[in-house]
Amino acid sequence: MATVSATAPPPAEVSTSPPRHHHRRRILHILTHSPIVSVPQLKQIHAQILRTAPAPHPTSETAFLYTRLLHYSSLKDLVYTLRIFSQIPDPNTFAYNTLIRAYAHSKDHKKEAFSIFRQLLNQEGLFPEKYTFPFVLKACAYLFALDEGKQAHAHVLKHGFGSNVYANNSLIHFYASCGQSESARKVFDKMPERSLVSWNSIIDALVQMGEFDEALRMFVEMKPSFDPDGYTVQSVIDACAGLGALSMGMWAHAYVLRNCEIDANFDILVKNSLIEMYCKCGSLRMALQVFHGMSKRDVNSWNAMILGFAVHGEAERVFEFFDQMVIEERIQPNPITFVGVLSACNHRGLVEEGRKYFDIMVNKFKIEPVLQHYGCLIDLLARNGLIEEALDIVSKMPMKPDDVIWRSLLDSTCRQSGGLNLSLSEEMARRLMTDEANASSEAYVLLSRVYASANRWNEVGLIRKLMSDKGLTKEPGCSSVEINGTVHEFFAGDSTHPQAKEIYQFLDVIEERLKGEGYIQDFTQAPLVDEGEDGKGNSLRLHSERLAIAFGILKSKPGIPIRVFKNLRVCGDCHNFTKLISKIFNVEIVMRDRLRFHRFKDGSCSCMDFW
Ligand code: ZN
Ligand code: ZN
Repeated sequence: MATVSATAPPPAEVSTSPPRHHHRRRILHILTHSPIVSVPQLKQIHAQILRTAPAPHPTSETAFLYTRLLHYSSLKDLVYTLRIFSQIPDPNTFAYNTLIRAYAHSKDHKKEAFSIFRQLLNQEGLFPEKYTFPFVLKACAYLFALDEGKQAHAHVLKHGFGSNVYANNSLIHFYASCGQSESARKVFDKMPERSLVSWNSIIDALVQMGEFDEALRMFVEMKPSFDPDGYTVQSVIDACAGLGALSMGMWAHAYVLRNCEIDANFDILVKNSLIEMYCKCGSLRMALQVFHGMSKRDVNSWNAMILGFAVHGEAERVFEFFDQMVIEERIQPNPITFVGVLSACNHRGLVEEGRKYFDIMVNKFKIEPVLQHYGCLIDLLARNGLIEEALDIVSKMPMKPDDVIWRSLLDSTCRQSGGLNLSLSEEMARRLMTDEANASSEAYVLLSRVYASANRWNEVGLIRKLMSDKGLTKEPGCSSVEINGTVHEFFAGDSTHPQAKEIYQFLDVIEERLKGEGYIQDFTQAPLVDEGEDGKGNSLRLHSERLAIAFGILKSKPGIPIRVFKNLRVCGDCHNFTKLISKIFNVEIVMRDRLRFHRFKDGSCSCMDFW
């Protein structure tokens, strides 16, 4: 590391002999040519400046020195930076930019970045320039400050930076961070000149927004003009993970190996994304291959594998990897590691292990549990009928339970076979509906399932009416299946697919054969309001995964597993249905629902009916 004393005499010498202008030149040299200066060193230099050019009337050269000082201290010590700024007689735009940057990078004072920007706008004779906006917008993006960011956007245009590539890249990033994909897209589309960063920003924005297929389309559009770098490839891999598009993901993997020069640090990042992508696409084998091929791994590499095994219900592998990571590799687990371990326990109903790992996390690794950890443990207990213990933890948690926790408690109570506790369920549903500011439709759907399980169809009808009165709709079920590299998407009750007729006819055939095997529909799963119109019965056969599976069987080559991705949790009836299909049609079906993977084979599922 370069130090001041390596490039210049120590301060004590400076303050004694040669003439003053000589000192200043030296100071200037240090400030201009040694990029890494520590705060104590800056303070020494500051003291020298004060000694050689005493306030209150600093020369322009001193002002320049201060501005350099400001620049070096800005990312290191906010309080000190402010002190220097206050000593600059007439700060110029560069000084203001530096202060904006200091605030934008600070931990707790990002908000101030915008007020300094306002101060700059109010200064007679000073104008923002192209480097001003990236810092202001960065702070706005971080704070989700949509209004302030929009004002900054207006100033970008007003001050003639509408075509500036830096300003526009920052605007794309800002709008994307605030979830405004259309605005991000508008900025991008209007850019007269784009850099690789512009493309990376918009592709990343689309991935963050869940518009994965659009992200891949933009990537294809970008390729003739720019060679992708590590950032691009990472977004592409994430898009494939989001789509569950295994063959496209493999293509991205091959592309990385063939085309991208990636440095060692970035290599870990990209490989970690590849592991995550393969796990999300249901190929643990490929994920492991990437993992074992890594020359260096960080905690995220281990976490990616642990989460991957967890979501596939392979708890033993999770425990094995955890031990290997902690005992053999001596890597400190982090909160995400425990999300993986606890959700593995949850997916397999391992209550003892769940309690044990929660305890290890808190007492051995001193990790403060967050809502997600509590959520896993509470869900695990509740699903195993230990509702009392789960509620006890809820009451002792340092934070308020969120809707996910209430939902899982409610869900568990209505799943309990036999002794359904109707009044407890109603109580929880009430909590869920009042807790959530804009009570989501899911609370109503769950409560309607409670009533359906108790055969209280009157109440089911009442809840449906309430929902439609409130204008609540359920998130529509959507499943996709990849056939020969193309992803086909189906919504519940969908008839828009070009081969819809063929699919429905085949579904009839499937149902006939299943009935022959003794399949009976489970009506308690029926009241999923907008998945079907006529109440119980008919709606079930319209669930989106059935369309995707039917299409998959029709179009896949025999012997190749059918991979289905569903946005919601698979219902009990579709789960039964799929198990039977795997047996009767002798086909392996890998299904990723909102929570986990199910591998259906020979009439049973890898989740062992626990999900
Ligand atoms: Zn279903
Ligand atoms: Zn299953």
